[in-house]
Amino acid sequence: MTTYLDNAASTRIDGRVLEAMLPYLKEKYGNPSSAHKQGKILKVLIEDARDVVADFLFTKPKEIFFTSGGTESNNFAIKGYAFSRNDKFHSITSSIEHPAVLETFSYLNKFGYETDIIKPDNKGKVSTENIESRIKNNTKLISIMHANNELGIVNDVKSISDVCKSKGILFHSDTVQSIGKMSVKPKELGMDFITMSAHKIYGPKGVGILFIDENVKIDKYIHGGSQERNMRGGTENIASIAGLKCAIEILKESLDEDIKHYTELKSHLISELNNSFKDMFIINGDEVNSLPNILNVSFKPDRLKVSSGMLPIQLDLVDVSVSGGSACSSGSLKPSNVLLELGMEESLASSTIRISFGRFNVLEDNMKLVKSLKKIFGVV
Ligand code: PLP
Repeated sequence: MTTYLDNAASTRIDGRVLEAMLPYLKEKYGNPSSAHKQGKILKVLIEDARDVVADFLFTKPKEIFFTSGGTESNNFAIKGYAFSRNDKFHSITSSIEHPAVLETFSYLNKFGYETDIIKPDNKGKVSTENIESRIKNNTKLISIMHANNELGIVNDVKSISDVCKSKGILFHSDTVQSIGKMSVKPKELGMDFITMSAHKIYGPKGVGILFIDENVKIDKYIHGGSQERNMRGGTENIASIAGLKCAIEILKESLDEDIKHYTELKSHLISELNNSFKDMFIINGDEVNSLPNILNVSFKPDRLKVSSGMLPIQLDLVDVSVSGGSACSSGSLKPSNVLLELGMEESLASSTIRISFGRFNVLEDNMKLVKSLKKIFGVV
């Protein structure tokens, strides 16, 4: 059986979530915009789901918009805000954001917008002082992720939002990885936009949310019908919204337990790695300001028999799924841009794996990973 340690990429759907979705794929097949009963029950479901999400995030229901996931939510916030204004403003983001943020800014820049891209420190944290020093008179939007998907590093978003508030700048934060791994309250954290994706929290793929603070006005994102309070046209993804609702209901009950579970798994793996590989590996990111479920480890190529970029493939061959510090692009394995941005050597970046724990992992999964690594490295 495969040992799945790649939950930051996607999680296994919770059985209860699947059950909650099924009626909407079978007998409840109406269109939520219809005036008859088969339509209205779906409208009720959508609004119930919105209430559940809003309650979980301590926001108002009218501040929650259903989308197709994290990528769309990031596009929606950034482009929606840009197109709502008639000035080609300046924005600030970091060089280790998800492509859904970086590519969106880069697209806007083709139309005359301007973006400063800040490098993080060598742990992956974005410095508030650095951001502050880049602010210009026409800076209108700052986008910094809450937690990084490869490193798990958690940024000091409150200090960034304080700077934004003092200068009248909107703050967008990609919270796709932090939701479900720590408490995320956008109002308390001073965030104007946050994004979420259901498949990272044991829900289905292809559904997520964008939170927009009620005082912020942005442009409609998808033109068509008047769904999502006339901000995103298109018949709603009902079954997935039902799944997202259920995933959040479960999370409300299990968040503390989940965090405890991830923390135990992570510290167990660190001690097992120490037992087996002592000073032959390094932990990337920041061990203190880090998500409890992500561990990013580089094995020293001068100390261990590591074939560059091959670790995730070698582990896959023995049925252990992790992510690598390299991504396959145009047929070649390139070291992760995130690791290179920290100033890491290419050879070390290429000997890196990201382990990300989920609700369904057990300590034996760590043991299998370590045993497999020992075999790969020829360590007895
Ligand atoms: N943002 C971050 C930080 C992510 O990790 C991901 C997914 O890996 C996304 C955005 C994109 O989310 P989705 O897969 O729902 O489009």
